[in-house]
Amino acid sequence: MSELRFDNQTVVVTGAGGGLGKAYALFFASRGANVVVNDLGVSHKGEGKSGKAADVVVEEIRAAGGKAVANYDSVENGDAIIETAIKAFGRIDILLNNAGILRDVSFKNMKDADWDLINTVHTYGAYKCARAAWPHFRKQKFGRVINTASAAGLFGSFGQANYSAAKLGQVGFTETLAKEGAKYNIIANVIAPIAASRMTATVMPPDVLENLKPDWVVPLVAALVHSSNTTETGGIYEVGGGHVAKLRWERAKGGLLKTDDSLTPGAIARKWNDVNDFSQPEYPTGPADFMAFLEDGLKTPSAQP
Ligand code: NAD
Repeated sequence: MSELRFDNQTVVVTGAGGGLGKAYALFFASRGANVVVNDLGVSHKGEGKSGKAADVVVEEIRAAGGKAVANYDSVENGDAIIETAIKAFGRIDILLNNAGILRDVSFKNMKDADWDLINTVHTYGAYKCARAAWPHFRKQKFGRVINTASAAGLFGSFGQANYSAAKLGQVGFTETLAKEGAKYNIIANVIAPIAASRMTATVMPPDVLENLKPDWVVPLVAALVHSSNTTETGGIYEVGGGHVAKLRWERAKGGLLKTDDSLTPGAIARKWNDVNDFSQPEYPTGPADFMAFLEDGLKTPSAQP
């Protein structure tokens, strides 16, 4: 199979001055894409500001014969980032919402500022960039989005209540973009990556980090955003260190109770085994699944207690 290429396409990578974003930017440029290297140049806690991070990556791409421009806006100004792509290259095809920071602190000590900043960068930032790209995607009937979640969002993580909330938010956001974009050939997927970067440098030993190169996350992202992918959308993928796996929601068999005054806490307790019974799981993909399931249950007299 020939290698996937991205000639004549424009890729916007947010937070591309380092870590995963830099790996994406270098890869897509090497495969023919025009790349907008966005980076605010902040510390991993979101402090400071510098154009250097983006400039260094743009220089590296150009030195290798690739096409790239820098953008130094915060992702909160998604309009300006997408405008950079339109001005420089006349189009936007692929958006990688990758920029991120941490404000880790136990929930007991969490301040509003810790909560707000994390949600501003991750949730509002991803929204603003996607919102600005959306009309272009719809008009050209082509668009690809990768949003970035985290295991912390999927499973919870000590000291990361703010980050967990924002990161699981990326999942619901992506699933809705996938549904709304389907008609326009807009494909949206979300990844929970694991990679050596300054974010993980302080919490993992060097020998582990050695096997977690950001480069090992890139191929999945490239496959998902390539024009040849027209079906895999709304997916959640764990990726890192050579491991790639899709995740999905699973619903237990559940207990169906009569909706009258017999529906008491005690009745719930008596159905607790059914509520937790994953021996015959279902894999819901939308709110309608729940309604259909409920209607079916109500039609089945034997399901009544
Ligand atoms: P990183 O700190 O190396 O890179 C993040 C980049 O985003 C930095 O260059 C930073 O300057 C930039 N940035 C921060 N705030 C910005 C803003 N408001 N506007 C524009 N740029 C901004 O981190 P990384 O490990 O490469 O993480 C990339 C993404 O992957 C993040 O969303 C992170 O939460 C997520 N993630 C990473 C891991 C991991 O193992 N590295 C795990 C789970 C999730």
